[in-house]
Amino acid sequence: MDKSHPFSRARLSDSAQRRPHPGRRAVIAGLAAVCLPGQLAAQEAVALSVVTTTGMIADAARRIGGTRIAVRGLMGPGVDPHAYRQTRSDIAALAGADLVLWHGLGLEAQLMAFLADMARSRRVVAVADAIPPDQLRPFADYPGRYDPHLWMVPALWLQVVDAVHAAITEADPAGAAGYAIAAATYRDEILALSDYAAGMLATVPAPARVLVTAHDAFGYFGEAYGFEVLGVQGISTESEAGVQRITALVDLLVTRNITAVFVESSVSDRALRALVEGAAARGHEVSIGGTLYSDAMGPDGTYEGTYVGMIDHNVTTIARALGGTAPARGMAGRLGS
Ligand SMILES: [Zn+2]
Repeated sequence: MDKSHPFSRARLSDSAQRRPHPGRRAVIAGLAAVCLPGQLAAQEAVALSVVTTTGMIADAARRIGGTRIAVRGLMGPGVDPHAYRQTRSDIAALAGADLVLWHGLGLEAQLMAFLADMARSRRVVAVADAIPPDQLRPFADYPGRYDPHLWMVPALWLQVVDAVHAAITEADPAGAAGYAIAAATYRDEILALSDYAAGMLATVPAPARVLVTAHDAFGYFGEAYGFEVLGVQGISTESEAGVQRITALVDLLVTRNITAVFVESSVSDRALRALVEGAAARGHEVSIGGTLYSDAMGPDGTYEGTYVGMIDHNVTTIARALGGTAPARGMAGRLGS
């Protein structure tokens, strides 16, 4: 945690000390083994325990809450949220949380019924509900349903970050002042990321602005930055790509002279490899332009394992593979470090 964070030396408020909730007792019990009792209140005590589904939501909660809150993200690096089902330890974590933050818009398809049930008795917030429908991409085939992949465009994701901020503040009003300071810092980073993305993606020559990926996670990205986006699978990863779809995409790679396609960290690369082989059989060389973080962030503890690092990686990888001029180490020289 950043030393300048308003909660880096947070103390428990009086009211929080009087009313320890069940989730915190376990944390305190664990700390008691390594701390003298008198040190405890001044150190790692937690005012709010938060469970999130995706890593991107967990990143926002951690940045806004600092050490005042405990955050557990259920879906780690490489995990596909469309297919994820809750484990027994997830259920225990959810049951012990003060606040549950999930994305919504149908992303966590296998958890929806469980979370809706949970919402009747506790604080459960679908953070993507904060985006007005006129900013969402509707599905042609499913009236009233929308593309959930909002995090791909920093300016859109900022509204979700604001919803995370609001939910945390509502659950723990005593921390409001510190949450506001931390959220403002995080917003500034995301705004800088937004500028970097627009600038770097504009360096890709117009005919090369075609993004071929494993599934349709980049629709908002394409609209925001002027890329044609083609997923081998649909919006969800739950259906297999058919032979006809592969053949049609190979035709397109050859006729449009597209030379790079992209693998996703949370989706099998089998269909993408079929595209590369299919194009090669027709004498057209296509390379894998890199691995993109579509629905999950990079490895824990790395820059790519943060929201800003994830998008920096994607933007930089796409721009460079398609003939743009982004710096190899990305926006802040931190990629691959
Ligand atoms: Zn997806």
